[in-house]
Formats: sequence, C-alpha cells, structure tokens
Amino acid sequence: MNTLNELDRRLLMDRSVEGRRAVALPESDVPAQPMPDAAMLRDELPLPEISQLEVIRYFSLLSHLNFSIDTNFYPLGSCTMKYNPKLNDAMASLPGFAGIHPNQPAEQVQGAVQLMYELQGALGEVTGLPGVSLAPLAGAQGEYAGLLIARAYHDMRKDSARTVALIPDSAHGTNPASAAMTGLEVVTVPSTADGNVDVEALRSLADERTAVFMLTLPSTLGLFEPSILEITELIHSVGGLVYADGANMNALLGMVRLGDLGFDICHSNLHKTFSTPHGGGGPGSGPVMVTEELAKFLPEPVAVLDGDTYRLTEPENSIGKINGFHGSFNILVRAYTYIRAMGGDGLKSVAENAIINANYIQAQLKDRYDLAADRYCMHETVLSATRQKKRGVKGLDIAKRLLDHGIHAPTMYFPLIVEEALMVEPTETESKETLDRFIEVMRQIDDEVTNDPETVRTAPHTLPVTRLDEATAARKPYLRWNHTP
Ligand SMILES: *Cc1c(COP(=O)(O)O)cnc(C)c1O
Repeated sequence: MNTLNELDRRLLMDRSVEGRRAVALPESDVPAQPMPDAAMLRDELPLPEISQLEVIRYFSLLSHLNFSIDTNFYPLGSCTMKYNPKLNDAMASLPGFAGIHPNQPAEQVQGAVQLMYELQGALGEVTGLPGVSLAPLAGAQGEYAGLLIARAYHDMRKDSARTVALIPDSAHGTNPASAAMTGLEVVTVPSTADGNVDVEALRSLADERTAVFMLTLPSTLGLFEPSILEITELIHSVGGLVYADGANMNALLGMVRLGDLGFDICHSNLHKTFSTPHGGGGPGSGPVMVTEELAKFLPEPVAVLDGDTYRLTEPENSIGKINGFHGSFNILVRAYTYIRAMGGDGLKSVAENAIINANYIQAQLKDRYDLAADRYCMHETVLSATRQKKRGVKGLDIAKRLLDHGIHAPTMYFPLIVEEALMVEPTETESKETLDRFIEVMRQIDDEVTNDPETVRTAPHTLPVTRLDEATAARKPYLRWNHTP
C-alpha cells in the first residue's frame, strides 16, 4: 500500500547513513556535564542520519506533494481559492506591524490602530453597514457575534420572546450551528424548485417569535435571491432582524450593498474575498458589520478617531470580548492592502470577472453535467453528477480523476440539497486558458465515464496517495515519520 507514511520512511530512512551529520559543530570549549539519571536515558534513538542537503531535499520534495493555489487551479466552491497578491504578505511582514505586541497601548501603535479604523470604514462602505468590529477570528465567529448582537437588541427592547432563527435549507452549515450556539431555536425555511427562498413558506413562519432571518447570499447554490427586498421587508414587518452571511463577497463587491437590500447585520470572510491565503482550518478573520442603530452592541474593540488620536474602544452596550485581543491583525493588514491596491473600480471588476468566469464554465458544461439550478449563477456554479451516476461513476470519482490532471477537486456533496453536487468556484484570478483547460478535462472525464468508467472509479493514478480515509486522517493524523499505528 502506498501511504504517505511509507513514503516518508522511504524518503527519510532510506537516505540514512550511519555517522552522517547535517552540521559540523566546533569542538566544545565548555566542560562536559554529568549525564542525568541513567534510568531517564533511552538505549537507542533511531533517527535518520543524513546531510543538510538531504534534509532540505526531503522537505522540499514533500512540499511539492501539496496542492496549492500558487501551483494549481483550485476551483473549491465556497472557499474562494483565488490568487493572493504577494504585496499583501510583504505589508503584513513589515516590522512595524509584525513586531508589535497586542498589549501595547494604542498611543504607541497609532499606525496599526489607524489601519484598523480605515479598514472598518472600507468594509462599512463595501457592505453598506457602517458599524464594524474586526474582532471575530473566523466566519463562524462573525456569525456568532452577529447573532449575539441580534439577541442583545431584542433583550434591550424587552422583546425576549424572540427565540427563533429562520434559516433556509440552502444556507451554509455554519449558520444553524451558530444560531444554536447563541441559544436560538433553528427553524428551516424550504427552497423552491429553482433554488430561491420559498417566500410563501417564510410568510407563514415569520411571527412575533422571529429573532432573526439568516440568509447566505449568494446562496450555497451560487445564486442571488431575487425576492430579497420582499423578504427583508417581511421580516422587519414582524419585528425581526435580517442577517446576511456574506462570507463570499466575491460576487457582490461594488455591485450591490447588503445594507441597501435591508440587511441589519452581516459578516464577511477576509480570508476568502479579501485575499488572505487560507485552508487547513486557519487562521481566519470574519469581521461583523451592522447598521448604525446596532453599532452600540458590537464586540470590542472598535477603533475610533478621537480628535487626531486613534483609540480602541468598547461600544456602549457591547456584547463584550469574543477573543483575547484585536482579531487576526496580520490578516487585517492583508485585507487593507488588498482593498487599497484594488481601489473601488478594481473591487467591482473582481465581482464582474468572478461572475463571468463561473457562468462561462456553467455554459460550457451544461450539455454534459446537470445543474443544480439552470439559470445564471454568481461566483460559483453547482453541477450535479447525476447523469454520470447512472453510468456507474459518482461525483467523488470525478473529483478524484481531476487530480490526475493537476486540478484540485471542487467542493463535493455540498450543498446537501443537491444530489452528487460538484461546486465549482473558478474565481476572478484565473485566465481564460485555465478555464478552457478545466472545461476540456471535465468533458474528457465525461467521455471516460462512458468508455472507460473503471479508470475514473479508481482515480487518482498519478498521486502518491489515492483514496484516503479522510475521517481517520483528520481525527488520528500520523504526525511523526516513524509512527507505528
Ligand atoms: C466559509 C464560509 C463560512 C465559514 O467561515 P469560517 O471562516 O470557515 O468559519 C460561513 N458561511 C459561508 C457561506 C462560507 O462560505
């Protein structure tokens, strides 16, 4: 069996030569010290003995086994794996940013607090929701903070019977989880056959118990919600608040502002739209944005300009701190750099190109693959491998076969309401040549499903690891080269 674990051993242990060293230290000029109690010493320590070059080569080779956006097309839906300009990293590495301590008083780090203040302003402008806190450390934590704000708002009005969060079945999975974390009861709103919120169903569910309606926009089907104005008005008419999961702002930048649509609260993922590399679970940043009326509830800190001094403050009725310090500061620097470098027109062109790229792929593949919804999509398109499944090949097999072509798998089996879902998000940073190649490969794989399904079912054939037990890999990872299970 060709596991990564065995590959490690082959690479490292097979290189070991007794007595070989990576560094040559000078003769010691300090007196030798007595060894500790012999019972505490090991008899043997089987480490590979290899030269410095071999160590470098080993780790470099290993790093080449990674898929990354810097090496491969990465159309992982809902994740916005776009190219992150290296300028962002350079700015985040400036000693004046990288070297400061979170306990330094604001007077000593005026530039950093100014950056937070201006980033708050930019995000308020982009979303049309001017109250901003940069504290949340992830999209899900932004949701949590936003829902606590909704609760605090109702509590302050002594409207405490509002305990229900209405959430469509096309929502991102974190939405119901965050609502449950804040103690709200989750009630699911069905979608219509063409992927919109079922407004009539919503009308019958919205009442004096509604604390918040939470909408992922664009939805996990990659769609805009055409009834959004009717929906926000309906929720407000029963006294509820409207929350936008704006984790994926790629399709909205400069096109429409959530505040103008009637949303009261939203969050956005800086580690998706605003160009911070991500993956593997962190780090992230999910600022929360609210209307002026709700700004007094924001989590601390919020940067303000007081005369000509920038300060970090706790809003009047703040829900408090949601983590130790000021959020993921180095991600804030990257987002700020990205926004300033792109400018307003640049951000708008991000949305235009993200939308065109996704629709191009959808249009070029819809004769071969079913669509979750046969209409214009936004920044991503959800394909379905139902036609291929009838020929004995699953969405998973297609995703694995793409790896043989140097293309990262799309998001699979999500959203849950789409059978055999393959969620493709090309992003705005890919060239037409790359999109054309992806389309060609997807069409080729569909031919293969007819002519040689076994090759697809047993893919990938070119990678050192093939079909992993992903649950065990995540829960019991082998982190040592000589791990023996
Ligand atoms: C990624 C994502 C989230 C969760 O963000 P995390 O930073 O992973 O917590 C929430 N909603 C949507 C729509 C997303 O795409």
